[in-house]
Amino acid sequence: MRVEAVEAIPVSYPEPNDFNALRHLCLVKLTAEDGQVGWGESITQFPEASWATKAIIEGFAPLIIGKDPVQTETHWRAMKNQAWWYGYNGGIASYAVSAIDIALWDLKGKALNRSVLDLLGGPVHDRLPAIASSHAHYEEIPKMAEEIAGWVASGLQGAKVGFGKRGNARLGYEHDRDIAFVKAVREAIGPGLPIMIDLGIAIKWDVTTAVERTLAMEEYGIAWIEEPLGAWDPNGYATLRAKTTTRMAYGEKEWNLEGYQRILDTGTVDVVGVDPGRAEGITGFKKVAERVEAHRRQANAHAWSSAIVSAASLAISFSSSACKVFEFKPLRNPMQHELVKKPFEWKDGWVLPPAGPGLGIEVIEEVVDRYRSERVMERVR
Ligand SMILES: [Mg+2]
Repeated sequence: MRVEAVEAIPVSYPEPNDFNALRHLCLVKLTAEDGQVGWGESITQFPEASWATKAIIEGFAPLIIGKDPVQTETHWRAMKNQAWWYGYNGGIASYAVSAIDIALWDLKGKALNRSVLDLLGGPVHDRLPAIASSHAHYEEIPKMAEEIAGWVASGLQGAKVGFGKRGNARLGYEHDRDIAFVKAVREAIGPGLPIMIDLGIAIKWDVTTAVERTLAMEEYGIAWIEEPLGAWDPNGYATLRAKTTTRMAYGEKEWNLEGYQRILDTGTVDVVGVDPGRAEGITGFKKVAERVEAHRRQANAHAWSSAIVSAASLAISFSSSACKVFEFKPLRNPMQHELVKKPFEWKDGWVLPPAGPGLGIEVIEEVVDRYRSERVMERVR
């Protein structure tokens, strides 16, 4: 099998899990000589990042066209070598590597008639607990607690809640309101099930605030606190970790293995967030997951975009003993529920290993066309 065409497709879609904000991705479609198609994604989040990623993907295309998709490592290295100047330490080049790499793995699976999970060596888990990964939106705390209790009642085995997000929740800004929220959620879902608190980019806690807030939340039991001091603050995280017992989660903004090694070396990260649509694809995530496992930490897929990144994340999560849970956006949304014929679901609180061939998803091209950024952006202008 040889790759015949590389197409970069920026898409834009309203995300119900983010207060219906318009979010942006850059997809990749690889077409082989025999007509088989592989899909990849980068989680660019902003239109300008999508357009830049598209340009780099088009620059990478000559490295991929005419090549055998089975040789994923070869192509991954070729792309990184090409980006030696503009991709040093990551950045937009890593988005382009991510999207093409995921699509190559999909095509490789289809060429060999095996699942990506099999090609990664097969599952090391029979099943993974499914948890909700949500943003808090409502103004009334009881309403938010009730909503989360509803997800748990539907079978999800815990909830991660984003603070400082769009909407009227105003969480992350006031001590008493934050603690009242955590207390209400704990009372609504009962003891035992994990609650994770994820601080969005809008929240700018100093170290003292982070210590005080985390200590107060600990009274109600939180499984981890995510990015309380952002993406990089080794001294701050060391202080926070010394003064609290809650696990620290961060890492989702890193681009590559070197970045992950840097945060692991600080000794302050317990749960390492990784998005294959940012951290250089399935090849990149797999390398990171192995490193995280060697450091006896947990890796956690940041799968909060399309079913393509969910499929890639699931394959790696099942192939790595560093991964312990899998996150689902709780509200139905276009990039999960419209984009593919069989959306990913959990059953009785568990998600099962993904089956192939390739990523095991069937992308509906009419849906891709409907959400092409040039069309969507034209409509909203
Ligand atoms: Mg996060």
